[in-house]
Amino acid sequence: MTIEKQKRKNFSDIKKAFEESSTLLLTEEKDYKNSKQKLDCMCPSGHKYSISWNSFQQGLRCPYDSVLRMKDLSDRKKNKIKMVEVL
Ligand SMILES: [Zn+2]
Repeated sequence: MTIEKQKRKNFSDIKKAFEESSTLLLTEEKDYKNSKQKLDCMCPSGHKYSISWNSFQQGLRCPYDSVLRMKDLSDRKKNKIKMVEVL
């Protein structure tokens, strides 16, 4: 494999990976330059966001959903602390 190939991931492979994660890739092949470039996509919940292939590959997904998840976790933590205080 050449260095050039490692730098520029095949676009159809990227599109496939997005589809497998139920994410709609909105960036077209003609606009794709490299794996560090931000790609426009839409998550299963309908949020539009941009993510680089590198980040997507590392398991990063919709930032809106991850914020909600984090909020949910911190709320649960707060509730636990409250319960402990009440007791
Ligand atoms: Zn989302």
